[in-house]
Amino acid sequence: MPADVDLLILGGGCAGLSLAMRLAENPGACRRVVVLEARERYENDRSWCFWQDRPDRFDTLVTYRWNHLAVRSSRSSASLRCAATPYQLLEAAVFYDHAQQVIRAHNGVQLHLGVTLSGLPPEQPDGWRIETPLGTLRAARIVDTRPARRPVKGDALLWQSFLGHEVLCDRSVFDPGCVELMDFADGRPGTVEFTYVLPLAADRALVETTVFDPQPYGPADLAARQHSAVLKRVRGAAHSLVRTENGILPMGDLKTAPDGSSSRYCAAGLHSGAARPATGYAFQRIQRWAEACAATLRLGGNPIPHASDPWLTQQMDRLFLQVLAAEPERAADLFVRLFARVPAPRLIRFLSDKATLADRASVVAALPPALFLRHLLRTGFRPATGRAHP
Ligand SMILES: Cc1cc2nc3c(=O)[nH]c(=O)nc-3n(C[C@H](O)[C@H](O)[C@H](O)COP(=O)(O)OP(=O)(O)OC[C@H]3O[C@@H](n4cnc5c(N)ncnc54)[C@H](O)[C@@H]3O)c2cc1C
Repeated sequence: MPADVDLLILGGGCAGLSLAMRLAENPGACRRVVVLEARERYENDRSWCFWQDRPDRFDTLVTYRWNHLAVRSSRSSASLRCAATPYQLLEAAVFYDHAQQVIRAHNGVQLHLGVTLSGLPPEQPDGWRIETPLGTLRAARIVDTRPARRPVKGDALLWQSFLGHEVLCDRSVFDPGCVELMDFADGRPGTVEFTYVLPLAADRALVETTVFDPQPYGPADLAARQHSAVLKRVRGAAHSLVRTENGILPMGDLKTAPDGSSSRYCAAGLHSGAARPATGYAFQRIQRWAEACAATLRLGGNPIPHASDPWLTQQMDRLFLQVLAAEPERAADLFVRLFARVPAPRLIRFLSDKATLADRASVVAALPPALFLRHLLRTGFRPATGRAHP
């Protein structure tokens, strides 16, 4: 059975499009690629933020950059100045448009919208034969970025649930120079809950209620808290809703569906190892995976999964999340300490997966030793998991 496609990508979101773009530009041995995406059309459904630590392909697409971030509790605050590595926002709509343009400009990749594929048939000796609304497709390899399953309590150490509204006010109420990364002042006692404010202009901002908790929360659960957060931030100004975004990101110990044993099949994306446990952030990690995976496919190899974090990062993230889960009332103080005591370049490298040993030591030194030692003695270290960085 000769394959129709060298690679079938299931799900054309961030991970699927990131890989497809790279293969469109430079296919090597992976010339025929099909992407099946459930959505009929793309919308501006998320705002990807990350620190710009080196020039990359999205530099010209970034719409906002900030050099100042603040973290506040009800008692204290800390700020982080990052002019050398600004915090920047890539709007999803801009990313989706760009990816589609790149794909259209080359011949090898076909992106089909409005195609939902459930499950997968068993693998044959020479690949998969898949019935799709477009007809039968024979695929030699598969990258599957569909979410493995619905978030439920117990499938991750914590879930990061959030609901955000971009609001436009009739007067200036925001400081466009400073991102409120975490404002814990209004969080309920006993929960890790904060407001995130991305000021897009003096009269426009994305205001987001965020909860880290073993229980995942949908938008309806967060609606009342989010309403109060918006009212507080607009300070009496008349305002209109521009758009909404929400998400539930895994933080640590994610249980994913089994991959199967085929080396020609690979699960990728948010629910398959892309998210950094300590932050839930995944965008840059997905870009690094897409580079590495495309490079392997170009040489005729099989798709590769996300690289796992170094052992020390795994232990530090896990311990931090365990402390948050067990003692959520300490969260505001811990985050303020980190942002107040760790020099900005070190903290940004730590959060962006580029930490040196000295950066990690600086993070450890900023946190209360007795609290972390107590939890470490209770849980111990875990063996490293996943595919190591090459
Ligand atoms: C609102 C929001 C904001 C975020 N902000 C940040 C941030 O600031 N920084 C950061 O680093 N990370 C952020 N993240 C986390 C992460 O970067 C994103 O979730 C990212 O989109 C994950 O990429 P993905 O490809 O795994 O999933 P998605 O981008 O969700 O792509 C999965 C795709 O699969 C499709 N699909 C699902 N089921 C099927 C099916 N059965 N058949 C075919 N297609 C299917 C979906 O329609 C979707 O397009 C954010 C996430 C969300 C939700």
